[in-house]
Amino acid sequence: MQIHVLLAGAKWPSGRDGKINVPYVISRQYAFSERRVIELALDSFQNSTCVQFVPRTDEEDYIHVLSDQGCYSSVGRRGGRQVLSLERNGCVFPHIVQHEFLHALGFHHEQTRSDRDDHVRILLQNVIPGQEHNFDKVNTNNLNTPYDYNSVMHYSRFAFSKNREPTILPIPDNNVPIGRATEMSRNDILRVNRLYCS
Ligand SMILES: [Zn+2]
Repeated sequence: MQIHVLLAGAKWPSGRDGKINVPYVISRQYAFSERRVIELALDSFQNSTCVQFVPRTDEEDYIHVLSDQGCYSSVGRRGGRQVLSLERNGCVFPHIVQHEFLHALGFHHEQTRSDRDDHVRILLQNVIPGQEHNFDKVNTNNLNTPYDYNSVMHYSRFAFSKNREPTILPIPDNNVPIGRATEMSRNDILRVNRLYCS
């Protein structure tokens, strides 16, 4: 399942209790078991950060989780209702849920980081034509955290490959595993804390 990203927005505000309460609604498209996967992945944020995802009551800005084509989210808060898509066939897994919600909190893909050229080489010659923008570098705020091959925001070696050849090579050691996270890494959690909780 390819993972896409839309445009960048703002941070979510903190509430009176000092916590960041991010309202969400989950579509009725999902089976109970799928809904449970989503809710458990959201719980993982409040267990390790000051961010908590709360069922929407009447808040103006909120995340609408639904099953559209593919897995995607805006980066940051867009204002009003914003769609976060977790397609039923392929996206309802803990690490993908965390990945998309990290986008919604304002985070970009790890391999687009401003310092990525020190850690990976992008092989555009292997990328599906028209998908090169997925590898554009972004002027990210890295919050003094290290580049992390194990980030849940890191693409895999063959992301958007047109020919089964790698599109992302770790450097200098090309054999380091990348983009295999099954849950948020310590650095993913640290970034949330540095952006929202300090
Ligand atoms: Zn993504």
